[in-house]
This record gives sequence, structure tokens and C-alpha cells, in this order.
Amino acid sequence: MGSVTGEETRKDQKDHRHRVLVNRSLTLENIKCYGFDMDYTLAVYKSPEYEALGFELLRDRLVSIGYPHELLRYNYDPSFPTRGLVYDTTYGNLVKVDTHGNILVCCHGFKHLRGDEASVFYPNGFIQRDNTDRFYILNTMFNLSESYLYACLVDFFTMCSRYKNFETGFQHGDLFMSYRSMFQDVRDAMDYVHDTGSLKERTLKDLDKYVVKDPRIPVLLSRIKEEAKVFLATNSDYAYTEAIMKYLLETPQGSKATNPKQSWRSFFDLVVVDTKKPLFFAEGTVLRQVDTHTGKLRIGTYTGDLQHGTVYSGGSSDIVCDLLDVRGKQILYVGDHIFGDILKSKKRQGWMTFLVVPDLAKELQVWTDKIHMFEELKNLDIFLADLYRHLDSSNRESPDITSIKRKMKTVTFGMEMCYGKMGSLLRCGSTKTLFASQLLRYADLYAASCLNLLNYPFSYLFRAPPILMPHESFVESPPLDCFDFSVTNHVLRKPQQDAATVNKI
Ligand SMILES: [Mg+2]
Repeated sequence: MGSVTGEETRKDQKDHRHRVLVNRSLTLENIKCYGFDMDYTLAVYKSPEYEALGFELLRDRLVSIGYPHELLRYNYDPSFPTRGLVYDTTYGNLVKVDTHGNILVCCHGFKHLRGDEASVFYPNGFIQRDNTDRFYILNTMFNLSESYLYACLVDFFTMCSRYKNFETGFQHGDLFMSYRSMFQDVRDAMDYVHDTGSLKERTLKDLDKYVVKDPRIPVLLSRIKEEAKVFLATNSDYAYTEAIMKYLLETPQGSKATNPKQSWRSFFDLVVVDTKKPLFFAEGTVLRQVDTHTGKLRIGTYTGDLQHGTVYSGGSSDIVCDLLDVRGKQILYVGDHIFGDILKSKKRQGWMTFLVVPDLAKELQVWTDKIHMFEELKNLDIFLADLYRHLDSSNRESPDITSIKRKMKTVTFGMEMCYGKMGSLLRCGSTKTLFASQLLRYADLYAASCLNLLNYPFSYLFRAPPILMPHESFVESPPLDCFDFSVTNHVLRKPQQDAATVNKI
């Protein structure tokens, strides 16, 4: 367990990939309780192996219910999907949108639609994303394989000569298959793969292939437990949770076989499985105790006090607060699901939130490598502003900005292609995506991994970078020697570093 030395940790601190990024200031000292989600938070699945497995199971399920065998020719391509896409169940398009639903990227199958092609479907270049009956947001890591499957299905039926293309689906003989029914079939296949346990079964059969086993996980949980209370709240069932947590916590790599085994449950003050998030953060479900010998639920609602090592099923965030005697801002909840973990715990309970963004490492890598492209975009913006600098309402002639706009589009598209075929999770050129705006709004902290917390002392003050409003940004700052750094030097220096990192994202 002592495999992570202070020296290694300090070395890591220099690397921005190992930082925790700050949207809103948070004093770690005030946190009395840490809550963790399991899947893709503590248990990180290997990419693209795990998504490829999910894709195969979904694809095979569709074929088994009657979809054409030719679909088996499609294999998962990790360079296509990006999280946060929206599937339009009316026209079968995958779209990437900003916070207001303005379309940034639009794909039909694997074909990118130009602005004029997309405007046939969306005359205002906009989707009403609140229309959840029509638009389905693919936000989670589990959705990646599903996003790719929608593209494969649309691609196949569009290209296949047996099917005739219509605006809202395909005709084969006297059968019409709408994009909407295709969506329903994929959702049902998704439920089938998760509910029947086929994905879990395949994962557990080959844990080394699908799950990232990091010896720092037990180190982090042990250190936190010395300072605060810790709970696990997962939507997974008990049997799966136990198998995964045993793998992650009970058999650390490099540990001596003679070490007495520490039960995975002892790392937590409370373990809750089958939480049914986001329902867990609202009215919740019945709280039952899990018999850890048989894995079965005990009949009746649990009414007793908290017993260490006990596992519960269901319940709600209110019950967790009562059992652990903690409230609201005393809790830092760490999860990867922007809606089920972060948005709901923040909006319904006022908890402090830490979003794990597993794809952030790749986003940062591309951003670092391609920063010159963003600089090019900024320069084009300045050039555009200069064209209008000396004009006012008396001018009748307008400057020709066609070529600049074309260049901006070319650079934006070029940047997007560096991330993947659907571009970045967080931006499209200089516009933030819906996912990015939710991240900024609901996650107090975020990082590529919850293990980044290892790089900070439990007394740490995470300072949010000061962000100026447009009217404030015109005023130039006075020189730094106007400030007295003698008292606040330590606090000031750190957030400035964080600000630089956040601004790049
Ligand atoms: Mg999760």
C-alpha cells in the first residue's frame, strides 16, 4: 500500500494531467464525508476494449431479434463517437450541440452534413433539446458504444439496396422501419445487455482485460478514511459490486501474499448498491439490507443504526445523510455521470461535486498538441474585429468577410478531426458544447481521475479562477506590484496556475 511515495506524488503535481480542476472554490478541510460512484469512477474500464465489448453485445442482440446479419461486419471504431452527442429519433441524425441546442456538428450515419444539408432537417440550426421524447442525450461512457451503433445502423440501411430511403426511416417491401423504432430497439438491446448481466458476465470473466487495476485506489480510500467518512453509492447490484471492488481493493498489485487481507467493505463507512440514481437523489427507493454471505436482500425496510461493513440496497441520499450524520456542503460526491451523479446531487441536495471525466486525458493531449490551431482561430477573430473597428451605423458598405468565415470553419473542422470524427467532448472551435457548459455549471471540481485527489493535502483550498464578464475584461489590470503578496502568496499562486489550466479547457 506504500507504493505511492511522497516524492512520486510531488513529481506528478507538476503535470497538469494530474491536477484537479476548479470551477468553484472548495475547502477540502470542510468536507466531512466523501461519496464515490463505482463504474467509471473508482472502477475505470479500459478503453476501447470495454466499449468494443458493449458494442458487440448490442450489435449481436439486434441481429438475434431479426436485424440483418450484414451488421456483424461492423466493428467498434473508437475514433468515431464522442460523448455528449444527441440522437434525433425522428431523422436518425447524431448531433453535437451547444448549451442552447444550436447545432455544432451533424452526422447522418458516418456522413458529416454541411450547414445547408443540416438545415433541411433543422431550418434554424437548432434543436429543442428539452424535447426528451424526440432527442436522446448520449452523455455517459456506456453510451459511447450505443452512439456508434446508431451511426452503423443508419449507414447500413442508407447504403443497402434492399431498403428504400425516406425522411424518417426505411422501407423494405411492405415493412417500414422508422428511425424511432430503430432507437427503441437499441434502447431495448441496451437494457437487455445490462439487465441480463451479459456485459457484467463477460467483464468479470476477464477483469484484467476490461478493468483498470490501480494500486493507488486503496491508498486514496485509506487516506480519506483517516480524515473523513466514506461511502460508496452505485447503481450496480451487490454481486457485481463485490467482484469489482474485491479486484480493485483486496488484491493490490505488488502486495506481499503474506499480508492479511483487508476486506473491500472496510474501506467504506457505508456501501449502498442498486441506488437507482438519479432517483436516489430525490425520493429514492426502499432501503434494504444485503446479506453479504448470500448476496440476497433481507425482507423488510431497514430501520436500525449504521453498522460498519453493512451493505444496503436502494435507499436515498437523505437516508445516507441520516446514517452518516452529514449534510449538504459537508459532502463531496465523486462520480462520472454528469446528470445522474453531479447535476442531481448538486441541484437536489446541494452537495459539493467532483466530476470524473475519463476522456479528459485525451482532450488535454490534443489541446496541448494542437494549441496553435486555437491561436489561429483567435487571430482570425482579431482580424475580423479589426475590419469593423472604424465602422459605425453611418457606413453603408459592409466588408467582405466570406473568406475569413470560410477559414474559421476550416480551422474549426481541422481541430475537431484531431479529437475524433465527432470532434471534442468539450468544444467545437471556440464554442463550448452542452456537456462543457453542464460541467462548468454543476461540477465544483473535475479531473480525468478521482486519483488526482492524491496530489493535494486534505487541508487544501481549491480556488476557482476569477472569470471576468465581457464588460470587465476591457479594463486592464494594474501592475502586480500594487498587491501585497506577503500574506496571501501561497493562496494566490496556486489558483493562478489552475486558472491557466482551466482557461485552456
Ligand atoms: Mg458511473
